[in-house]
Amino acid sequence: MKAATPDKMRFQLLARDPSSRARRGRIETSHGVIDTPAFMPVGTQGTVKTLSPQDLENLGVQIFLANTYHLYLRPGHQVVAELGGLHSFASWPHPILTDSGGYQVYSLAQIRRISEEGVYFQSHLDGSTHFLSPEKAMEIQEALGADIIMTLDECTPYPTTPEYARASMEMTTRWAARCRQAHRRNQQSLFAVAQGSVFLDLRRECIQRLLDLGFEGYALGGLSVGESKSQLYEVVEGCAELLPADTPRYLMGVGTPEDLLECIALGMDLFDCVMPTRHARNGSLFTRFGRLSIKNAKYLKDPRPLDEGCPCYTCQHFSRAYLRHLFLADEILGLRLNTLHNLHFYLDLMRQARQAIEGGYFSRFKEDVLADLRSRPEREASQELEGLGGPADAKRVGKD
Ligand SMILES: [Zn+2]
Repeated sequence: MKAATPDKMRFQLLARDPSSRARRGRIETSHGVIDTPAFMPVGTQGTVKTLSPQDLENLGVQIFLANTYHLYLRPGHQVVAELGGLHSFASWPHPILTDSGGYQVYSLAQIRRISEEGVYFQSHLDGSTHFLSPEKAMEIQEALGADIIMTLDECTPYPTTPEYARASMEMTTRWAARCRQAHRRNQQSLFAVAQGSVFLDLRRECIQRLLDLGFEGYALGGLSVGESKSQLYEVVEGCAELLPADTPRYLMGVGTPEDLLECIALGMDLFDCVMPTRHARNGSLFTRFGRLSIKNAKYLKDPRPLDEGCPCYTCQHFSRAYLRHLFLADEILGLRLNTLHNLHFYLDLMRQARQAIEGGYFSRFKEDVLADLRSRPEREASQELEGLGGPADAKRVGKD
């Protein structure tokens, strides 16, 4: 391990749930504290769409995720560096995590060639050709200056064969070693990404190799890409038990409120997903009793708040009827109010989960929340959501 310095990240385990593997922790960075389990909103372009940093602070957001791929292409990582780094550029003095850029290269760009050296790809913006290697991923992320940065991996396509998954996993571990070698800035914590598709033996082998290299945190990537829920939970469970207790564990790109609770119970600490923000902009809103689609005609004259009992700004001031009106009229305020509510829902869920772990009643809390979430008639919810685009659609468009 590299020598510790005062501004190095610290992770403390504060409590464990007695009846699950759920853990309550705290990550300290030079830009502030992250209470775990934590949900990180996705701020693709260095902004969580429709919200200001002040909005995020009011919601209690402690960290957001920015996408290296997008910031590298526009405005360029050197531009961000010249303007003082991402914290200063985006006026966000709190922790930031950047991904490696790999995921968007696979999902958005046209890939020209993947080799041991790296990936040649064409920008989805202007078709220009670029090269992303483990060393380049480190250089870009160091210029952006996030508190937590990620190793470059190959996000293994799903479904895949065990042979392809093995070759991909092995390259991912070699790339992780190169990232570790190229990593310079000590105040940025480098987390490694484990791959291996749905093959638990490959996942575990990958984790073992990454543990041998030694990183400040470990992430599970390449999940929520079309596998079943039972496969997802099986992989997370089998991987989490291998990960050291004293480092943060990050489940990338997952997921629904149910997924968060199930994976917290399996011992994961950090989560990010476009779901609350993207669904908000599609008018799909989270409530304790499942999602509702605000464009539905039945809300035309509905004077009730979106979620009775929700203390968020949106629910405290506006009716379903008004939110429906804003959405159908394409008003910007509608997107903002929906985003405020959905993010409040996610952050509040995590706050309650942390309290439940501290109080030793997480499993009961989880079952209660899951029962409420499922109480809404399935048919009604799916009819309302028709045409909104599911996770597969979300993946195609890329993270935001
Ligand atoms: Zn609300």
